[in-house]
Amino acid sequence: MNFKNTLEFAQELDEQDELKHFRDLFYIPIVHGKECIYFTGNSLGLQPKSTQDYVLNELEDWASMGVEGHFHARNPWMPYHEIFPNQLSKIVGCLPNEVVVMNQLTVNLHLLMVSFYQPTKTKYKILCEAKAFPSDQYALESQVKFHGFEYDDAVIEVSPRNGEHTISTEDILQAIEDNKDSLALVMFGGVNYYTGQVFEMKQIANKANQLGILVGFDLAHAAGNIELHLHDWNVDFACWCSYKYLNSGPGGVSGIYIHEKHATNTDLQRFAGWWGYDKETRFQMEKGFKAIPTAEGWQLSNAPILSMAAHKAALDIFEEAGMNRLQTKSKQLSNYLFFIIDEINKSFTESLIEIITPRNESEKGCQVSILMKNKGKDFFNALCQHGVIADWREPNVIRIAPVPLYNTFTDVFQFGKILQHLLQL
Ligand SMILES: *Cc1c(COP(=O)(O)O)cnc(C)c1O
Repeated sequence: MNFKNTLEFAQELDEQDELKHFRDLFYIPIVHGKECIYFTGNSLGLQPKSTQDYVLNELEDWASMGVEGHFHARNPWMPYHEIFPNQLSKIVGCLPNEVVVMNQLTVNLHLLMVSFYQPTKTKYKILCEAKAFPSDQYALESQVKFHGFEYDDAVIEVSPRNGEHTISTEDILQAIEDNKDSLALVMFGGVNYYTGQVFEMKQIANKANQLGILVGFDLAHAAGNIELHLHDWNVDFACWCSYKYLNSGPGGVSGIYIHEKHATNTDLQRFAGWWGYDKETRFQMEKGFKAIPTAEGWQLSNAPILSMAAHKAALDIFEEAGMNRLQTKSKQLSNYLFFIIDEINKSFTESLIEIITPRNESEKGCQVSILMKNKGKDFFNALCQHGVIADWREPNVIRIAPVPLYNTFTDVFQFGKILQHLLQL
């Protein structure tokens, strides 16, 4: 498509957008009396207007029924988590029995590593991306220490080449090959939180599979953002949070995926709790853990229903929009953002903004990270003053994520106008 840097053009794209009415389903934060340009759906997705009703229903059922709500609430609490696999399996690309919603992300990462990081004296290393999200780094660090290894020896980080911001897929595949005899696990992000780089999960999983190495992904920045086919890619396990692209509220519940070949293996090592126990006999409350032969077998506790209700409100919207339509719009929105930034750069004698997110279609999602040459936090603060909610990362990167459910092409255009104006000051 030939983009144009005009308001009329952006408005025309919005007019033609099949998903345009979805924006009305969300509360858009107000800044200086006006709807802001919200570009932080990658950090905390906006609140659906329906969420309050979903949560209120559960509060009402609790008020009127007390413990009976476990069986008689409008959405009975006991099997509440069973609502999700159908919808989530379409979002992450797997079978319903491979997914369950439980706990929070870092907790789940640890629980999954209990099952999928079982190092031996010779095969004990983990391959990951350099500068992964800090919580993931700490999880890996404490896991290798727990097994008696040192971080610097046991964790191999793949870095960008000199002078580059993103990690070449070739280098990742080569690192797996080079360390094939000592690797117990390949554990990568699906999308890097800083650069927005989408890692080529299919190729990474394929390489690890060929060499008999387990492979897992942290999909915090991928779930609800990019197309995923976890089952077909033969990924062993994955986890994600629900409060970023999945709009399920601050600190919302997390989801996990476990490939069917492992999920059905009730002998697989895990840390167990009663909610993962065989449903037929759970309430006989006998000794000796008997796992449910699906991803549900990893659940520990009964579900946090208020948070689950918020998740349900958000996923019902995803279901209606459909991942295919969301993907199409998402690509168009981020391509428009690339175009607008290129136009701004062209209007100055030297380019003032470096886009560090890959341009290649298979390596980007919603998020575009821009490095502001010669600009500091003051510049970012000025953007906020103009009604843009984006995200600043030291030393000089701004992360911008136009999301297809509620952002518009006009948001992207207006953002460009503000950026241009501030750069001219
Ligand atoms: C957001 C994010 C987290 C946050 O973890 P919580 O346990 O939900 O606080 C962890 N890892 C990655 C990659 C993230 O993007």
